[in-house]
Amino acid sequence: MTGEKKKKIIKDIKVDVDKCTGCRSCEMACSAFHAVPKYSSINPARSRIRVIVDELSDVYVPVRAGGYIQAECNGRNLYTVDGKEYSECSFCPASCPSRDYFKEPDSGLPLKCDMCEDDPPLSEPMCVQACEFDALIYEEREEEVEEEEVKREDMEIAFESLVKKHGKKKVMDTFARLAKD
Ligand code: SF4
Ligand code: SF4
Repeated sequence: MTGEKKKKIIKDIKVDVDKCTGCRSCEMACSAFHAVPKYSSINPARSRIRVIVDELSDVYVPVRAGGYIQAECNGRNLYTVDGKEYSECSFCPASCPSRDYFKEPDSGLPLKCDMCEDDPPLSEPMCVQACEFDALIYEEREEEVEEEEVKREDMEIAFESLVKKHGKKKVMDTFARLAKD
């Protein structure tokens, strides 16, 4: 059985790898925007976008953090770009146990791109605003999706903003207390 359809704004960031210079402004902007308090620090290790750099081949690939996965992949693809071989991990957006990318350096908690959700909303995500070379292009489009999917994503965004504001431990403690009541 299919649920009710709802209109939803899909947000995309198109990446033009040929225009990326590897300047890493996107990493700095993302980490500053998500610092607590906001803009209080810059640390690319906390960024939800990382630039895969190979200066010898002049290849720079910005990758935004996707979701957390509990187990590393069983098999991986190998990619050849301009004659140089890359493992699938190089361009993978997942926070996973087998590498350090997309993990909060102090706590080890996974980092995920939230499209810079804010109130009031930004005109464009911070990484896009910071990219002077037009390697990152922001686009919005409307799509029909299942109502359940919209609700789940709304909850994920609400949870993340609570964690940002109060810290993960406090939020989890509160949920545990509410579950008991
Ligand atoms: S959209 Fe926002 S959260 Fe996502 S990578 Fe860009 S700056 Fe970071
Ligand atoms: S700011 Fe733009 S050009 Fe610089 S590393 Fe990021 S995507 Fe590449």
